[in-house]
Amino acid sequence: MIKKIEHIGIAVKDISFSTSLFERLLGNKPYKTEKVLSEEVNTTFFRLSDQKVELLSSISKDSAIAKFLESKNEGIHHIALLVDSLEFEINRLEALGFQFISKTPKEGADNKKIVFLHPKSTNGVLVELCEEM
Ligand code: ZN
Repeated sequence: MIKKIEHIGIAVKDISFSTSLFERLLGNKPYKTEKVLSEEVNTTFFRLSDQKVELLSSISKDSAIAKFLESKNEGIHHIALLVDSLEFEINRLEALGFQFISKTPKEGADNKKIVFLHPKSTNGVLVELCEEM
């Protein structure tokens, strides 16, 4: 089951500049910063009641975020949906014809296992499915 929008991921060039920008915008401090080696990113998380905003900056010129920033500049990068079972949702969505960037769950930020659907099967929106670890 898809439970809710867990967070919105925003690609940024300079994580300290943007952390301070979003601190002012949201009126609260991030609850977590984390380097995620599997995605080659630095992340900052803000909590907004039950949802989160994730800022992502690249720590490698070859990361997906670096490529996104190069082609699209800063902005909304992905929407993350919290699911109770990644395996179940991968099978369900695959049977419906959705495509995945990879169907093998990776260790994402904030204690989650994650997979990404390919934007070409989701109207151009990069959708992350995440499950609590
Ligand atoms: Zn995310």
